[in-house]
Amino acid sequence: MKRRTFFAAGAAAFTGLVIPYRRSFAAEPAAAVPILGMDGRQLTLSAADIQDLRASLRGEVITAQSPNYDAARRLWIPSFDRHPALIVRCAGAGDVKRAVSFAVSHGLLTTVRGGGHSLSGQSSIDHAMVIDLTPMRMVEVDPVAKRARVAAGSLLGQLDLETAEFGLATTAGTVADTGVAGLTLGGGVGRLGRKFGLTCDNVTGFELVTADGRWQRATASENPDLYWALRGGGGNFGVVTSFEYQLHELAPVIYGGTITYPYEHVREKLQAYADITAAAPDELNVDVDLEAARGGGRDVTFSVCYCGPLADAEKVVAPLRKLGKPTEDKLGPASYVKIQGSAQMPGYSDMGLHVKGGFLPGLTPQLMDAIVDYIEQNPSDSFDIGIESMGGAISRVAPDATAFFHRGAKYNMLAVGVWKVPGDGAERNGAWVRGAWQRLEPFTHGHYVNLANSDDGESRARAAYGDNYARLADIKKRYDANNLFRFNANIKPA
Ligand SMILES: Cc1cc2nc3c(=O)[nH]c(=O)nc-3n(C[C@H](O)[C@H](O)[C@H](O)COP(=O)(O)OP(=O)(O)OC[C@H]3O[C@@H](n4cnc5c(N)ncnc54)[C@H](O)[C@@H]3O)c2cc1C
Repeated sequence: MKRRTFFAAGAAAFTGLVIPYRRSFAAEPAAAVPILGMDGRQLTLSAADIQDLRASLRGEVITAQSPNYDAARRLWIPSFDRHPALIVRCAGAGDVKRAVSFAVSHGLLTTVRGGGHSLSGQSSIDHAMVIDLTPMRMVEVDPVAKRARVAAGSLLGQLDLETAEFGLATTAGTVADTGVAGLTLGGGVGRLGRKFGLTCDNVTGFELVTADGRWQRATASENPDLYWALRGGGGNFGVVTSFEYQLHELAPVIYGGTITYPYEHVREKLQAYADITAAAPDELNVDVDLEAARGGGRDVTFSVCYCGPLADAEKVVAPLRKLGKPTEDKLGPASYVKIQGSAQMPGYSDMGLHVKGGFLPGLTPQLMDAIVDYIEQNPSDSFDIGIESMGGAISRVAPDATAFFHRGAKYNMLAVGVWKVPGDGAERNGAWVRGAWQRLEPFTHGHYVNLANSDDGESRARAAYGDNYARLADIKKRYDANNLFRFNANIKPA
């Protein structure tokens, strides 16, 4: 997704990255907490329950009475204005074990928060318990083994910056303060995906706490069923506490950036995008956004990342420079972290988002016409239709080799409505996206787990997993028969 669409014009205050935690909050008086149970019934946690939980953790227990409640409950997308009853900020895997056991023994409705970027707002739930991994931010690179061990609250920018220092990288998403956890568990689409595969294809091991409160490791040889399911099956199987990624060598200077054109002759620009991506080598990733966001005029932006030989780069991107006079041309040699914007981690956005997405087997003239017609017939000064490249290494993994099913997709298409929060744009922009999706969805084949939307029904969640759903439901039954981990693109236990 295009970075510009989602960030405030003036940088949002940085609050997200360094969140101190303390061993216990003995000084904070505990009060009884009303909270929802797993069956939807209203329960009450006594002051003693809260006090015991606090005393058992290295991290922090936050309730509506806590002075930092409002900061702690905030998600990256501010239109999800959730008021959870209990936020357990875990300092490590031990805290996660205790939090899961507490949730199960009290029968609490529970969700998990990694980076807090959920597009369905499901990493926080009104009147429920949040297991929050925000304090668990650590990236450790082993440059000899070319592996990174990453704590599950870490952000993509932290992973990129640390690995780049060793001349290494792995596939990550395009907005630096997205959480590694949610992104990886759903798949992980990014600028290096065509070269190195999805983020989840690069995971060599997970550590997690399952619904029975047990810590487990999942690799090709340990719990291989979980290892299969966690690579694309979302947050359905437990709370992942750390990831180990395979890293790849990447030259210190590659080529990329953005080139933006006026919206006129948009159809020709879409055709140029189709042509260049159809013939692209694995080293080339190009995304396109047709956009009118934040009150600016409409434009068409191509985002490029080319990690092949630098000497070939200008020739490779030449077709994108033949589309008239750009309003801005920022293509050129650059480091991967510069192209990624890895240092930009504002902590949250000030924009509400409504997103629908789906995979495309190709870019047909009929689809391009449908996109352009919809935009013409439904004027809006705040939208983004984005098309992201897939294929390459992503498509060379069999659909049943991991839980991520839609390996044949050539593109991932998104329709995004954007509005300022606070503001009254939610209904108008949500309706624009729903209208667009009615027209565009028939061109899609399945969709990305991480683009699940709060108004998706069960059948859409199933479609995200395609033919892998039945196997996932079996594994779900084995590891989470009561569906404790349900606030995600949910897999119902078989
Ligand atoms: C601005 C923006 C840009 C994006 N760009 C990309 C992109 O380029 N590529 C891409 O692939 N995706 C992208 N996404 C989608 C992104 O992958 C998902 O929103 C993802 O869920 C975010 O992960 P998170 O940890 O920040 O989310 P959270 O909101 O913390 O969690 C999302 C889901 O994952 C579950 N979860 C989180 N952590 C854990 C854990 N440790 N164990 C178990 N379950 C967990 C949660 O319960 C929840 O259901 C983007 C999203 C946004 C908002």
